[in-house]
Amino acid sequence: MSSVAQNIRDFQQRLPPHVTLIAVSKTKPAELILEAYNAGQKIFGENKVQELVPKSEQLPKDISWHLIGHLQSNKVKYIAPFVSMIHSVDGLPLLQEVSKQALKHQRIIDVLLQIHIAKEESKFGLDKEELQAVLHSAELKAATGVRVRGLMGMATNTEDQALIHSEFHQLKKIFDQTKFIFPESIHWKFDTLSMGMSSDYEIAISEGSTMIRVGSALFGSR
Ligand SMILES: *Cc1c(COP(=O)(O)O)cnc(C)c1O
Repeated sequence: MSSVAQNIRDFQQRLPPHVTLIAVSKTKPAELILEAYNAGQKIFGENKVQELVPKSEQLPKDISWHLIGHLQSNKVKYIAPFVSMIHSVDGLPLLQEVSKQALKHQRIIDVLLQIHIAKEESKFGLDKEELQAVLHSAELKAATGVRVRGLMGMATNTEDQALIHSEFHQLKKIFDQTKFIFPESIHWKFDTLSMGMSSDYEIAISEGSTMIRVGSALFGSR
């Protein structure tokens, strides 16, 4: 069986230089995360605030923590002091709360807007029209505690490779259409397209992903 350290090194060697690996460590113990860290992995993703906070306290301070899962507004305050990026902003109330909590800590927090691309009903995220509404809202303009870095999306959980290709392709298209609507500033640096997980990261990269979120392929199944 391959070790976590070996898996990390394999990914780091294989990935194109423009693709950032987020090691998704949800449900995994601190010792395993430390093993990945010692192999050179410095960016980790968690999907639950109540798991992210204690891990961030226990583990080395130079780790960048990304919140990748659905986030409730009332929990933003617990991660605002330290979180590096929030991938799952899916509405204006959450965006406003992230901004407010960031400013409380004299920070500007990097966020991605989560887009719904999958066939499944249950997946969170904005549709194209909702994205337009967020982008052209007064609330976004006023959210001076955030920097919008790009988009995140999850494909349908399916064996159908063509469907996964088409969903990621669609997200890349939305990304390209959105990238230049505002000039680059401290609040807009649209350079990140977070798509791809253990089962579909190769397809995601072929469709233009710049950030993959990989859990089980690194740490084993959950
Ligand atoms: C769990 C999770 C991942 C990683 O999933 P794996 O299949 O283990 O690679 C990626 N993104 C999100 C949002 C997740 O919740």
